[in-house]
Amino acid sequence: MPHARACGTPRAPSGDAAGSGAPYTTPTGGAAESRPMSTYRDLTAPIGSRRAPVLRTVGTRERRSHLTAPRVPTVGIDIGGTKVMAGVVDADGNILEKLRTETPDKSKSPKVVEDTIVELVLDLSDRHDVHAVGIGAAGWVDADRNRVLFAPHLSWRNEPLRDRLSERLSVPVLVDNDANAAAWAEWRFGAGRGEDHLVMITLGTGIGGAILEDGQVKRGKYGVAGEFGHMQVVPGGHRCPCGNRGCWEQYSSGNALVREARELAAADSPVAYGIIEHVKGSISDITGPMITELAREGDAMCVELLQDIGQWLGVGIANLAAALDPSCFVIGGGVSAADDLLIGPARDAFKRQLTGRGYRPEARIVRAQLGPEAGMVGAADLARLVARRFRRAKRRRVERHERYGRYAEARRAAREAL
Ligand SMILES: [Zn+2]
Repeated sequence: MPHARACGTPRAPSGDAAGSGAPYTTPTGGAAESRPMSTYRDLTAPIGSRRAPVLRTVGTRERRSHLTAPRVPTVGIDIGGTKVMAGVVDADGNILEKLRTETPDKSKSPKVVEDTIVELVLDLSDRHDVHAVGIGAAGWVDADRNRVLFAPHLSWRNEPLRDRLSERLSVPVLVDNDANAAAWAEWRFGAGRGEDHLVMITLGTGIGGAILEDGQVKRGKYGVAGEFGHMQVVPGGHRCPCGNRGCWEQYSSGNALVREARELAAADSPVAYGIIEHVKGSISDITGPMITELAREGDAMCVELLQDIGQWLGVGIANLAAALDPSCFVIGGGVSAADDLLIGPARDAFKRQLTGRGYRPEARIVRAQLGPEAGMVGAADLARLVARRFRRAKRRRVERHERYGRYAEARRAAREAL
């Protein structure tokens, strides 16, 4: 429930007191307690006062389930390391329109990224009714889903993104981690439909992850649950950019795949002749999609490399099954394009490593269905949970709002100068 989630936040005490506590401590509530049966009066009074906190939190908190959210189109934005993808998505997960642009460079200020997002939303709202905006960001989002605590590819450091954007766009904004958004999309419209305990693993350059239980994303106390990529699987193994050694993503990710292929090619191994020929000797040109493509064509080394990655994937999944016991693992991200070349070995390794194997039901391991748009679709669908039925981000409304902001600022400055 939203109230429960808001508990650790600075705003919670006032919100909570007015929300769940207040109706039962008011004089009306006290009087209702002494009566044996409910009457018209004690039914109406608490309902009226229970509504108030909902109005107060409009636009800031997730307050509905996806079943009761308004069936309105919303904008989803996926901010990755290289691309920003924005799209208008309807209540059934169909993409009505999609825009793409480059992610502003890490050296640019947070304001530049904000401007990019606002531009994209305004552009889309010229042609669509936009009732809310959802953002899936590659970074750590706090438990209140307002601040981006850290984003490796952007200049955001403890950035209050949601408040900044909802003020500028005058529609409700929701911010979440990109893996959470992708998992939500797969659960709602993709490979994880009908699963009430689902774990998503995204294999990109690293490993991202998310946990979904009973239709809710599990974010942990501080909002950063699901960082499976940095579980240690090999003590003293490869060094990871996070500072530790032997992290899972050093063995099962796009980076691991490319590193292994380049190592073999650099050592001029006979098994690597196929790929060396493919890149005409320029080893730094070897990429993940290239390895997948060569493996499909039957290149023995590329098949073996994907098997290795898949096997490590299965080992990690067995660990996760021991801890979380979901019914389904959805494998997404760029590397999952290798499909059975990767997921086959992962299933085998999972079966060999699973604790209690033979005596427990085994989780399914499936490939994600929504592809690179999953994050965007998920962010848009999550935004419907905070969407207003009638508010729209219209360019004129936003411009008026910003003009008023400048006017108020100028007046304040003039008053201070006096
Ligand atoms: Zn690590």
